[in-house]
Amino acid sequence: MAAIQVDLYSDTLTRPSPAMRKAMAEAEVGNEQANEDPTVNKLCERVAELLGHEAGVFVPSGTMCNAISYRVYCRQGDEVILDKTAHPIHAEAGGPAALSGVMLCPVDGKSGIFTAEQLQASIRPYRRNRPRARLVSLEQTSNFGGGTIWPLETLREVCDTAHKNELKVHMDGARLMNAVIATGVSAKDYASPCDSAWLDLSKGLGCPVGAVLCGSADFIEDAWRWKHQFGGAMRQAGIIAAAGVYALDHNIERLAEDHANARLLAQGLAQIPGIVLDPAEIATNLVFFDVTGTGLTSEQVYERLLAKGIRVGSGDGHRMRAVTHLDVSRADIERVVRAMRDVVAGRH
Ligand SMILES: *Cc1c(COP(=O)(O)O)cnc(C)c1O
Repeated sequence: MAAIQVDLYSDTLTRPSPAMRKAMAEAEVGNEQANEDPTVNKLCERVAELLGHEAGVFVPSGTMCNAISYRVYCRQGDEVILDKTAHPIHAEAGGPAALSGVMLCPVDGKSGIFTAEQLQASIRPYRRNRPRARLVSLEQTSNFGGGTIWPLETLREVCDTAHKNELKVHMDGARLMNAVIATGVSAKDYASPCDSAWLDLSKGLGCPVGAVLCGSADFIEDAWRWKHQFGGAMRQAGIIAAAGVYALDHNIERLAEDHANARLLAQGLAQIPGIVLDPAEIATNLVFFDVTGTGLTSEQVYERLLAKGIRVGSGDGHRMRAVTHLDVSRADIERVVRAMRDVVAGRH
């Protein structure tokens, strides 16, 4: 197998740059779990301010942010309403069931996004023998929905409907800043209608580890209990939080380059016979495409690209995913399109 030279597998693959590593090496540190790490405190304050929430807590992963939030809001047997493509359904190892004992009620949204009417229809009228809905969980941007962006109006309507029905709203903001850069809508506008929201630092923002979960001061106090219980309380975590502070200063605006590269990739792929983009419009940095029409399976396409030093997500069935990020250049994208043309034409 050739060494991987262009890796579009995920935006989690970015490695900390020399400047980020320098900031990490020089970070002031303390005992994170006693709120004594000044770098962690600074990061949490900055993200809470950015998201328009009262307080924040530093967490090792986005998965743990979802787990903690579900645990805060729900009791065993309660129901969480979320899109059928949502990350907690497909990619958190059954955590919602194992850690919070919740039922997941999937909504048949369009590319990961559902409407207030669909939400209303999913909320069961009260009966003693029904599961009790407690929480609406939404992803900005939607990952498996295709990197799609919740329009601000839809998001506000969904939050209003949830709140009228006495449900809380949690935003999985793994790629929230991608939505912000793509639309110009502020992170605060997207996140503040929700009761809690988090940002992943280890995706497009280019950090090695970490996420920041935000909400009211009371919510964060509760979140701390579950963070301890799940083993997520840390010690001199300023070393990794410093990467987050660096990313907030240097790696947000540049997400626009990832979006331009994703569009370039999509345009190139769409011209190859048999490849169909799904969804057709590229909103941010995720490009999903179906290879059925090429006569090759996604595994064959994956293997043949890999032999050319290119990795993409093999996906499930015929749908594949390519993700642009900090370590992918425009020239890399041009190379991927050429390679894909050769693979599909059988010249591999
Ligand atoms: C990656 C991702 C997560 C999990 O984040 P980790 O930091 O990898 O644990 C959750 N939700 C969505 C939408 C994601 O893309």
